[in-house]
Amino acid sequence: MLPALPQGAEVENHLPSPPSPLLELRGLSKRFGAVQALDGFGLDVQPGEFVTVVGPSGCGKSTLFNIVAGLDEPDAGGILRFKGRGCHAKELLGQVSFMPQRDLLLPWRNVVDNAILANEIEGANRREARAKALSMLPEFGLTGFEKQYPHQLSGGMRQRVALMRTFLFERELMLLDEPFGALDALTRSMMQRWLLDVWQRHRRTILFITHDVDEAIFLGDRVVVMTARPGAVKLMREVNLPRPRAPELLTSPEFTAIKREVLDAIEEEAMKSFISSTAAAP
Ligand code: ADP
Ligand code: MG
Repeated sequence: MLPALPQGAEVENHLPSPPSPLLELRGLSKRFGAVQALDGFGLDVQPGEFVTVVGPSGCGKSTLFNIVAGLDEPDAGGILRFKGRGCHAKELLGQVSFMPQRDLLLPWRNVVDNAILANEIEGANRREARAKALSMLPEFGLTGFEKQYPHQLSGGMRQRVALMRTFLFERELMLLDEPFGALDALTRSMMQRWLLDVWQRHRRTILFITHDVDEAIFLGDRVVVMTARPGAVKLMREVNLPRPRAPELLTSPEFTAIKREVLDAIEEEAMKSFISSTAAAP
């Protein structure tokens, strides 16, 4: 039974207001010369959400991230809102942390100095930033490697340094563009579980691009499947699987059902882009 309302109280005052999205994208388009990379892309991301994005190669995923990171402007007509405020993409530069598709570690900087790069560019005190990075090494599995240079690290370690850099640049929204793309299957699944653990402790909002459907479902609260170029939203699939997520989940019927749906959507799009590329061939 509902508690009695005091006289004159408005019913609406007792309803929790729906959370407002951290990021709102509506009708985003981007053309590069003859190439229409994005066409009417739309997505809302709630604070603390982990949203994964999959789609055929060349469908505009990195273009989307470049816009949200503030590195590129969308074409006129689209709407971009961050923390409830309409803005130009360039205003987002420095407001979100971004791990681009390549790890972009500087070969002449050791692990700690690579990790603090974004903070240093922002004008942070170098000594304080280094101390913070040193304290995060154990969590990122890099204890004892602070003085090593990128060429002395394994692929998985390099990825963790790049991720640590992204986490150290403390922003509510993190964009990760295929962060585990270069890893072997075993390291990759270890990194996925590790990322979920770190995400749950740091409570950031994550937008995560991947080619790997299992990865997209295993990590995400929602999976966004993009159409073949020009990129738009093909399917938005809620992942209503419990957390924390254990590896056994990957073989559960619930997981398999979501995977079938996502794969069907991807296959349809891959087929379209295959047909259009063969039709265009001489
Ligand atoms: P994805 O990350 O999904 O593989 P991208 O966003 O990198 O795709 O690219 C989408 C399309 O836009 C591709 O055809 C790519 O060649 C083109 N493109 C991306 N960035 C540029 C740019 N700066 N100039 C010209 N074309 C671009
Ligand atoms: Mg890309």
